Amino acid sequence: MQTVTFPELDRLPEGKTAAIIGGGPAGLIAAEVLARAGVAVTVYDQMPSLGRKFMMAGRGGLNLTHSEELSLFLARYGDIDPLLRKAIEAFPPAALRAWADSMGAATFVGSSGRVFPETLKTSPLLRTWLLRLGNLGVKTKLRHRWDGFDADGNLRFAADGKEVSVAPDVVVLALGGASWAKLGSDGKWADILAAQKIAISPLQPTNCGFTAAWSDVLLGFEGTPLKRISLTFGERSVRGEAMITRDGLEGGAVYALSSPIRDAILKHGETTVTIDLLPDVALAKLGERLSAARGKQSLSNFLRKATHLSPAALSLVREGALIKGLTLAALNGKDIAALIKSVPVKLTGVQPIATAISTAGGIRFSELDEGFMLKRYPGIFAAGEMLDWEAPTGGYLLQATFATGVAAARGAIEFLRYSVPDVRKG
Ligand SMILES: Cc1cc2nc3c(=O)[nH]c(=O)nc-3n(C[C@H](O)[C@H](O)[C@H](O)COP(=O)(O)OP(=O)(O)OC[C@H]3O[C@@H](n4cnc5c(N)ncnc54)[C@H](O)[C@@H]3O)c2cc1C
Repeated sequence: MQTVTFPELDRLPEGKTAAIIGGGPAGLIAAEVLARAGVAVTVYDQMPSLGRKFMMAGRGGLNLTHSEELSLFLARYGDIDPLLRKAIEAFPPAALRAWADSMGAATFVGSSGRVFPETLKTSPLLRTWLLRLGNLGVKTKLRHRWDGFDADGNLRFAADGKEVSVAPDVVVLALGGASWAKLGSDGKWADILAAQKIAISPLQPTNCGFTAAWSDVLLGFEGTPLKRISLTFGERSVRGEAMITRDGLEGGAVYALSSPIRDAILKHGETTVTIDLLPDVALAKLGERLSAARGKQSLSNFLRKATHLSPAALSLVREGALIKGLTLAALNGKDIAALIKSVPVKLTGVQPIATAISTAGGIRFSELDEGFMLKRYPGIFAAGEMLDWEAPTGGYLLQATFATGVAAARGAIEFLRYSVPDVRKG
């Protein structure tokens, strides 16, 4: 097995200590980098095991990163902060793939350009990683909930009903976002840090589903996917899949546009997306098909045979007509074709953060120096999803998580090398 050594790191003198709070991928990669530099690292987590959300990410196939060209890759983070850009450039997708390879988790590029470990799963990779960290001397303290700082400015944990105080030389905060709180990242750190005057952008769901006021007919299609669609919101269209849920709509195409859809709903209370149910069929051709004489066939049979759309998709078309105050029977073939190519769906709410894939908002980058250290609190660094960035699914979440974890650890190493260590706050 090949070993990634982060070769540019010189070892520090013995005796330096680091506390990593949060044992997700950001915290664990920070632990690895620091341990490789000779730092005595302890990872604290409030859960009974590490990497629970990372494990969950592997359920449907662990999408580690993406193979597209780096400039395109970086564009997925929207108006990317220069600090995040630098972190990803310093630890790009190729580095993450090499690291996974070193863990015995060789990766492959899927047809969409997404990168997965060959096993598709997190568990073998995480198992090997935890063994590696143990061999590097990294200690773990599970069921340790970070509550903030004590009167002396030391880290304060609640563990087994007792209060534990720790004063390491450096700290890396890697507490994650606020989605899927049951996996450990509950976002409660935001109040702790806000009380320390750290600017936090509100934590909001992203890569999330939305509510729609479905009719009883559409409710009957709960759990049915709408495959090979193109979803449009504003100027942006995304090809993919959406899923009809009890409350509304979710799935890859919805997640990809979730950030602007969320913002529009928060501003206006509701918004409308459009779905092209047959993006590979030209409007004129579909119009021709639907203008043919239907003879004695019912409209439903005729549409089903002429479009090959699923019953769920055709019900959505019917509902789309109703939104426009029309019925399909009143439309000619060309108009029905136009509707199929642009079905309006009114979205009335954002699904709760508990069910979102990821979290937007977090510690503002303006709070961090070049080494991902909190400017107000020398010796305390931050990484991962708790920082204020957002990106669609496709491997961008884990890539930014790993890259910022590496950047924070490198920042901490430089701090330990050149500064008098003192993380206490007065
Ligand atoms: C269903 C699902 C599927 C996903 N699939 C993918 C995917 O395929 N590809 C991708 O790129 N991303 C995916 N993600 C997102 C990815 O898992 C996260 O972006 C990533 O785990 C963030 O890593 P992190 O280390 O920043 O935070 P987390 O993984 O959330 O880890 C934070 C850790 O901090 C601990 N913690 C929090 N508060 C405290 C406290 N007060 N005291 C002590 N410990 C605390 C938590 O217990 C947790 O272990 C998925 C997410 C979900 C929910």
